[in-house]
Amino acid sequence: MPPRGGPMGQGFLTEEEKANRPRVTVALLRRIFAYLVPYWKQLLVVLGCIVLSSVLGLLPSVLTGRIIDEGLIGRSLNALVRLILLSLAVTLGSNLIRVAESYLNNWIAQHIAFDMRNKMYQHLQRMSQRFFTGSSQGDIITRMTSDISGVERVITNTFTSILSNSITLVAAVIIMFRQNWILALVGMLVVPLFTIPTRRAGKTRWTLTREAQQCNDEINGILNETLSVSGQLLVKLFGREDYEYGRYKDVNHRMIRLNIRERMAGQWFMMILTTFTSIGPMLLYLVGGVLMMKYDATLTVGDITVLVALLGRMYGPVNTLLNLQVEWIRSMALFTRIFEYYDMPVEIQNPENPVVPAQAKGRVEFRNVSFAYEPGRPILKDVSFTLESGRSIAIVGPSGSGKSTMANLIPRLYDVTGGQVLFDGVDVRDLDLNALRGSVGIVSQETYLFNGTIRENLLYARPDATEAQLIDACKKANIYDFIQAQEKGLDTLVGNRGLKLSGGEKQRVSIARVLLKDPALLIFDEATSSLDSISEARIQEAIDPIIAQRTSILIAHRLSTILAADEILVVKDGRIVERGAHQNLVKAGGVYAELYETQFHRAERAGDDAPN
Ligand code: ATP
Repeated sequence: MPPRGGPMGQGFLTEEEKANRPRVTVALLRRIFAYLVPYWKQLLVVLGCIVLSSVLGLLPSVLTGRIIDEGLIGRSLNALVRLILLSLAVTLGSNLIRVAESYLNNWIAQHIAFDMRNKMYQHLQRMSQRFFTGSSQGDIITRMTSDISGVERVITNTFTSILSNSITLVAAVIIMFRQNWILALVGMLVVPLFTIPTRRAGKTRWTLTREAQQCNDEINGILNETLSVSGQLLVKLFGREDYEYGRYKDVNHRMIRLNIRERMAGQWFMMILTTFTSIGPMLLYLVGGVLMMKYDATLTVGDITVLVALLGRMYGPVNTLLNLQVEWIRSMALFTRIFEYYDMPVEIQNPENPVVPAQAKGRVEFRNVSFAYEPGRPILKDVSFTLESGRSIAIVGPSGSGKSTMANLIPRLYDVTGGQVLFDGVDVRDLDLNALRGSVGIVSQETYLFNGTIRENLLYARPDATEAQLIDACKKANIYDFIQAQEKGLDTLVGNRGLKLSGGEKQRVSIARVLLKDPALLIFDEATSSLDSISEARIQEAIDPIIAQRTSILIAHRLSTILAADEILVVKDGRIVERGAHQNLVKAGGVYAELYETQFHRAERAGDDAPN
């Protein structure tokens, strides 16, 4: 069996890893240990298997000595056959135990990773919007996938490798000293001779590989930039072909130089490796021969052969164990990164004794609400208003004034920093979170559809909806004609993020989705991006009757939507600066009148002019 250990050249820390060395505390070790505890029985069996297979793995080397002494030199065919069969049986036994150990080991690692992944996913689901807007998606995915897979590797490889190599090493040293202490000492002196140059060569090779990787990234960057449609257009229009070619050639040249050096470092490494591995046995034969011939008549050829064989078995484990510190730091860093995520507090929690309303009516009240996404940068300041059940409010204001933020506070995507948001007369923080979110439907500016069929996307809101209910919702959302015109109807695929549908179609599907949910309060955050006038008219036709029938908040950018509401709130810089009916607000000549002149009115006129 080859010695166990990580692949060559992995045994060094990068500068980044050195800088971010994890702090290993008792608490951290205890926490890691806690993940192993449920599998202690299996772990015990694995441990037994490792001890047994490592010791058995050394026996054939010892038996070789007896095969030579008793069988070959002693000229006993009987002993020869018996010992050979025994040696084969021991090898087979040791290998079979390794297979069993490897199965168990993988089983444990997979189960621990399974537990960790599930825990992480569940925890992430409970994280607030603030977390998802604030962290990079790549980082989240990395922790979910490669970090946890790293832990799996630590358990299957590192853990067993440390154990089996230590046992092999200790057992080999003991056997060597029992055979002959002088030769054992000589052997011990040879091992560092082999390992030190190996590490040096390994480090050079590793550094070169990393440099080559960076070079490769650079090449990919150039290719991506210059061989893309828009990149090529830029190159051509500015006549930069020669410059780009020069840039590419330079990096390419650097790359081949690095590759050659790296391959040669590999050759040097092999040369050193084979030289030093052959020095060891030769030295043992020499010293052993002198001892046998001049000083120690009891020393046999078989003994010397055993020592040489055992020496050969020591190199691998020594090398692996020298990498131990690196493996250890990497493993601890992995666990630290995962635990960091587990420890992130869940910002929006269900209250301890939540109020579960019998029947939501959708009444909303903001009482002196203030809010900031980041401390010291208030977005909403002292906002108060009431939306009675069955009525509708339009919120208008310049871009970035805090309109969508007001909507986010109602289903507790964020919690207020001051004041109160009440839903049906109860502070939203006292309501059962699921019940609250179940009573509020939001059609957001950015429509998100999952990659699947229209039907699947609709059923997301209400998994038990009947075909008739689906069709009814689609009709109300003014999307049914479109769906019928598709070959596969409701089973039409919407593509990744719904990209196969137009912006207007996506909006209408998402309106149908909210209608299926049938929430007590509907929030419609109108898209600012301009849809064509036909699409807008379709959406308008869809939402007008909906607004008339239920409690709704319309974050509006178009006059027709604003006019459909019972009351208009004008928000500027996070404050409600005006409120009332359209005519009065226009007459008042304030912020609303200005918005009306600059945005709504003009948009209306443009809409009228647009071809139908
Ligand atoms: P629009 O009409 O353009 O949609 P809005 O009035 O709805 O604008 P909001 O989306 O409520 O504006 O944003 C209000 C302010 O809060 C903006 O200055 C925005 O930059 C900031 N903001 C919004 N979301 C976040 C966030 N997740 N983290 C930090 N700041 C944010």
